[in-house]
Amino acid sequence: MFESLSNRLSSVFDRLRGRGALSETDVLEAMREVRLALLEADVALPVVKDFVTKVRDRAVGVEVLRAVSPGQQVIKIVNDVLIEQLGGEGAVPLNINVPAPVPVLMVGLQGSGKTTTAGKIALMLRTKERKRVLLASLDTQRPAAQLQLAQLAERAEVSSLPIVQGQTPVQIATRAMDAGRREGFDIVILDTAGRLSIDEELMDEVKAIRAATNPAETLLVVDAMTGQDAVNTARAFNEALGVTGIVMTRMDGDARGGAALSMRAITGAPIKLTGSGEKLDAMEPFHPERIASRILG
Ligand code: GDP
Repeated sequence: MFESLSNRLSSVFDRLRGRGALSETDVLEAMREVRLALLEADVALPVVKDFVTKVRDRAVGVEVLRAVSPGQQVIKIVNDVLIEQLGGEGAVPLNINVPAPVPVLMVGLQGSGKTTTAGKIALMLRTKERKRVLLASLDTQRPAAQLQLAQLAERAEVSSLPIVQGQTPVQIATRAMDAGRREGFDIVILDTAGRLSIDEELMDEVKAIRAATNPAETLLVVDAMTGQDAVNTARAFNEALGVTGIVMTRMDGDARGGAALSMRAITGAPIKLTGSGEKLDAMEPFHPERIASRILG
């Protein structure tokens, strides 16, 4: 991911760096190429426009152009704007500092990696934060999903809520929170049913679960490989539900990276975590500055 964007930008920057002096025209020319590189990487058009305008406004200042190494200054500005676009300095941690048991709600489309991510978060919280985690599947549509989560819980060495047939998602969620309180769990991860596309029934179901459990986090899981669709999905979920964070999966794939770059600007929600493989430990916090330096080399 990001390789082709990174290659394109580095050839633009090599040219800038190679010059002793820069004119405004040189900067504008470079920005045209940056614009094309971002569009090719599948970054959303309004985000590209905003990015280029910000860089241009800061870079054509007299001080930058008269600096000893103007090319280097322009590259620094691109780096700064890129970090802003990705969400600012530093990873945004999960909000789990509320009284236990902390409900964490997982939402997303089918196949986005939601259930796997629930298992990854459980493992992370158990091993890195020493939390006692209970996993509960609220997917009453697909019995296989409930079994899948139980198996993931076993692999992550955390507990899973016993499966009881015939309960509604809200009833399961309530039972999970009761078990969380009674059995002294720190975190209860509620894995909702995924759908093939966003529909009102899905949103209503999630809203009802939310009203019953008051989650500290509503985490939306999206697949980076789906590019702009991932961004549109996130926007729709955020408008309907107000998500508190995004987990972007399949960052190990060969997606062009546009979704990661557009997500914050388009949805306003921070990417908190990224998935980078099928294994349960293949998940990392999202550090905008590290992504920027990966892109800019
Ligand atoms: P759900 O329908 O959203 O719950 O999706 P699943 O959790 O069942 O995941 C669907 C498939 O994607 C599974 O084969 C997972 O192993 C795989 N998967 C999940 N996250 C990642 C990731 O970050 N990278 C890769 N390569 N595969 C992933």
